[in-house]
Amino acid sequence: MMVVMKKGHSQRDLQAVLDHLQEAGLSGHMIVGVERTVIGVIGDVYPELSDELRSYPSVDDTVPISRPYKLASRELKPDDTAVRVGSVEIGSGSTVIIAGQCSVDTPEQMMATAHTVRSAGGHVLRGGAFKPRSSPHSFRGLLDEGLHILAEAGAAVGLPTVSEVMDPRDVETVAEHVDLLQVGARNAQNYFLLDEVGKCNKPVLLKRGMACSVEEWLLCAEYVLARGNKQVILCERGIRTFETGTRYTLDVSSIPLAKRLSHLPVIADPSHGTGRWYLVEPMSLAAVAAGADGLMIEIHPNPERALSDGAQSLTFANFRRLVEHARVVGEAVQRPFARV
Ligand code: PEP
Ligand code: MN
Repeated sequence: MMVVMKKGHSQRDLQAVLDHLQEAGLSGHMIVGVERTVIGVIGDVYPELSDELRSYPSVDDTVPISRPYKLASRELKPDDTAVRVGSVEIGSGSTVIIAGQCSVDTPEQMMATAHTVRSAGGHVLRGGAFKPRSSPHSFRGLLDEGLHILAEAGAAVGLPTVSEVMDPRDVETVAEHVDLLQVGARNAQNYFLLDEVGKCNKPVLLKRGMACSVEEWLLCAEYVLARGNKQVILCERGIRTFETGTRYTLDVSSIPLAKRLSHLPVIADPSHGTGRWYLVEPMSLAAVAAGADGLMIEIHPNPERALSDGAQSLTFANFRRLVEHARVVGEAVQRPFARV
């Protein structure tokens, strides 16, 4: 960290800052310029230091040099991390398709969805059992029964499964039934939940909070990594902007940015990112072209009868078309589909 002193500071002001650093077990390297004095902080800088120093009236600003997240950063681990989910690897240079229903409903529909994901070339089956809904009056999922239906459908077609966990108390149960634990956008900064999935030995799909900067998103991942779980997959799912023509704004630029800053795999969820079924394919192709390690797509046998997110769910025919087009784009950018 660099500490920029205000013009005209006194020697006493400077000494106060240097003493503060010394008390914190750090040292300061002074760079005295014609106009300004800058102190380079040497040692193990901690998160609160910047606020502490900026509370001195003689300090103009502090400039971080290293990233606030460490375990998630490429500074610590330059090589890509690949996360294994069942038999598929996410983050090893191929394109992975996660698809299924927004919410698990009937066993028959979930089974039909599972067969379609498998036969279209998908790799992981999704199905929400614990649903975070904006309105408490909306369908909130089949809970444990939904987990059973999803697990049966996944086993029947030989695909690993992913489902959301919303409460730290449910982590163990959800982890018993699925291969990948999803932390949703609304819970991306629920630090107790992140702690809990961080203690678990299951890979975690971490959505970007709808109001999280990329740095904040990586700090969310840092929570999971700091608890010992190194199997984290990041998922861009759209952020809140002023645009009303789409449900959220899929931030395609966050995909190469997160991959530049972090070694973790990054996938895209154009279903929630757009909220419109007809935008899902074009944004999927854009995400694969931008370097995404995979896609998460909502589909349903009858989108008009889906219990949640029907407007963004693809019909089976449209999903098959998307997969074929994503395969072509993946090959064009040297990201062929992962083997099932
Ligand atoms: C979901 O994937 O079903 C979901 C609720 O997503 P998000 O947390 O991104 O809104
Ligand atoms: Mn959904």
